[in-house]
Amino acid sequence: MNKNEYFGSCHCGEIKFKFYSGESVEVWICNCSICDLLNYEHLFIKHEDFKIIQGKKLLSEYSFGTKKAKHLFCKKCGTKSFYQPRSHPNSYSINLKCIDNGPDIKNVIHFDGKNEFN
Ligand SMILES: [Zn+2]
Repeated sequence: MNKNEYFGSCHCGEIKFKFYSGESVEVWICNCSICDLLNYEHLFIKHEDFKIIQGKKLLSEYSFGTKKAKHLFCKKCGTKSFYQPRSHPNSYSINLKCIDNGPDIKNVIHFDGKNEFN
């Protein structure tokens, strides 16, 4: 699969990252307590295809429940632009809304995280 380079950032722009993905992607919307609250749209990207460009020291971590997911927030603006999900241990989940010019959405998966994951 051909991979393109994409860029994203938090709201204040202090945290910037890039990742590699195909032109057309699958996006997950999850109904668990935190995803639902934030209206988060998940794009899963393998760890090796993701790189923080700047602002790593501004990342703050939050965990709850089983503590397997590491929710990462910008200390300055509070945006959760990406994090370590429990459902995909070898990938980060990037918030689609934080990507500058993102890939096309091939399809949307509605994931029942409320009952399967916390
Ligand atoms: Zn920020």
